[in-house]
Amino acid sequence: MRQDQQQPLPRDTMMHHEVHVRHVQRHFLQSVCSCGWLGAARRSPSLATEEGQDHAILFDGAFTGIPSEGGE
Ligand SMILES: [Zn+2]
Repeated sequence: MRQDQQQPLPRDTMMHHEVHVRHVQRHFLQSVCSCGWLGAARRSPSLATEEGQDHAILFDGAFTGIPSEGGE
């Protein structure tokens, strides 16, 4: 079966994608992008990180990762 995926990718290069991972409710992590995109809240840091990295790669953005863990 042929799949015509005509998903217009936003090629707005002016839009900056800066993804970082934030803590949600103590036990969850979530990737957040400056464009407004939100990843799912994950209990696994690697999953949350992976999702954020995927978004950054997809939109040619930057991934800054998880902010210093165990802070404050
Ligand atoms: Zn984004």
